[in-house]
Amino acid sequence: MNDTTSAYDGGCTCRFVRYRMTSKPLFVHCCHCRWCQRETGASFALNALIEADRVHLLEGEVEVVATPSNSGKGQRISRCPRCRIAVWSNYAGAGDAVRFVRVGTLDEPDRFPPDIHIYTASKQPWVIIPPGVPAMAEYYKASEHWPRESLERRATLLTKAQRQP
Ligand SMILES: [Zn+2]
Ligand SMILES: [Zn+2]
Repeated sequence: MNDTTSAYDGGCTCRFVRYRMTSKPLFVHCCHCRWCQRETGASFALNALIEADRVHLLEGEVEVVATPSNSGKGQRISRCPRCRIAVWSNYAGAGDAVRFVRVGTLDEPDRFPPDIHIYTASKQPWVIIPPGVPAMAEYYKASEHWPRESLERRATLLTKAQRQP
């Protein structure tokens, strides 16, 4: 992996929306749930979890679309208002502070392979998970899988959230 660039740019297909992640993500989910399969029209979703304030819009704007989610609490998917490509989502659980950036919208998506596979109970059977990557039938505890640096970043987020009225 080439680590010489510390910014990670991406965008939609029509190039109206361009964004930059200013650091590496906290963690990368490969989600095999049926909901993600429907949303992508494929076999799984690949999401880079990152603090919202580390994702900057360089060009354009996003349209937020309320979308049902597996939890029942819904997710808010940010899409290009022109070509409708989804660039990131916010889930109720993590709130607005954490964005789930669609790895496939990054200019160099190969840089972020999954750190974990989740909801493998509904994994399509032809998808073979490489050995050595954690795979969970459903969800997992961040405290058991995230690297220490990411847990520290998460703790900072939680502290900030508590300070807000
Ligand atoms: Zn677009
Ligand atoms: Zn999913």
